[in-house]
This record gives sequence, C-alpha cells and structure tokens, in this order.
Amino acid sequence: MTEQCIFCSIVGGKMPTNKVYEDTHSIAFLDINPRNPGHTLIIPKRHYETVMEMPDSEAGKFFESVRKVSEMVRKGVQANGISLAQNNGKAAGQVVPHVHFHIIPRFLTEGPVALESVLSPKKMDDESIKQIIQAIKLADKGAHSSHEPRHEAKHETRKKPEKINDEDFEKDEFEEMDMSF
Ligand code: 5GP
Ligand code: ZN
Repeated sequence: MTEQCIFCSIVGGKMPTNKVYEDTHSIAFLDINPRNPGHTLIIPKRHYETVMEMPDSEAGKFFESVRKVSEMVRKGVQANGISLAQNNGKAAGQVVPHVHFHIIPRFLTEGPVALESVLSPKKMDDESIKQIIQAIKLADKGAHSSHEPRHEAKHETRKKPEKINDEDFEKDEFEEMDMSF
C-alpha cells in the first residue's frame, strides 16, 4: 500500500467507492467515468504499478477474479460482450499507477469497435518482423533488461547484449537493429 495511491486508498477504505465485488486479494468497483453503464475496475489489493511486476502466483489468482467479475458484469447489465482493457505505463495511457483491468460492457447497439482500433495498423516489412521476433525471444533469456524503455528516440539502435546463446540469432543483425518502427 502506498500513501498517495488513489486505489490503495480505496482498498484501505479511506476513499468511498461503488464496490461490486471483493475477495481476499482483489476488489472491484465502478469507474467514476464510465465508458458504458457497468464499466468496472478490478484491482489487486496489493500495490503493483504494472502487471509485469506482479509475481506469477498473484497474477494467476488475480486473473481468476478478473474472469469471474467480467461474467458478473456481463450478466448484471445484460451486455452483449465485454472488453477488457489493461494499460501498463504512461505510454500505454495508464493514468492511475496501480494495476487495474477495465471491465467494459459492450452492446451491439453501439456499433461495436474493438478497443485496439484506437491504434491504426502499421505496415511492417519482413525484416522488421524478423528482428522483433528475435528481440522478444531474446528478452526471455534475460540478455537485456526489461527495464529499458525506448523513450522518445526516433532512431534508437539496440546495443549488442554481453552474452548471446541463441543459435538462431544472427549476431551482426542485432547491432544494426533499428527499433524505431
Ligand atoms: P487508466 O487510464 O489508468 O487505465 O484508467 C484509470 C481509470 O480510473 C479511469 O477510467 C478513471 O475514470 C478511473 N478513476 C480514476 N480515479 C478514480 C477514483 O477515485 N474512483 C474510481 N472509481 N475510478 C477512478
Ligand atoms: Zn496502490
């Protein structure tokens, strides 16, 4: 729990909210600016800024609650569908830095659009796609830190990591890898 966090204040009962669900590790309440009737936020009671910081054990239990409350909301407001939105970091539009899923009821009458349609599709050439695949796979091997945001640099080039074990990986390509998609 952090002092200044609005959602921690809700968990601690210091901030009133329209609670719809609670269990040992999570709590769900109506969003103060609902994008549709029944728009609910579900949060872990423990303070984590992003889902990437949550331990596996807690993330698993938390998602069980997300799934359960999604079904409660869908039935409760008789929605035709549910959009789950989950923003991590300012670049992704996260405003409240305490993990939360938006559970947003969707209705056929609203001329449905998928949430990801806020971003237009990008054309990617085969080489860029190949480089992205390699970079993502390499991240799983811990070859470079996941705490290396790309900031605003337009033409950032990734540095070659100290140790490369991936047989499929072509070392020279990594030095040239342009991450400004
Ligand atoms: P984010 O952009 O961080 O994914 O979404 C934050 C959400 O929290 C917004 O939809 C906003 O309306 C909601 N919100 C911000 N402050 C409060 C609050 O004090 N109470 C409730 N119930 N929702 C809040
Ligand atoms: Zn918090």
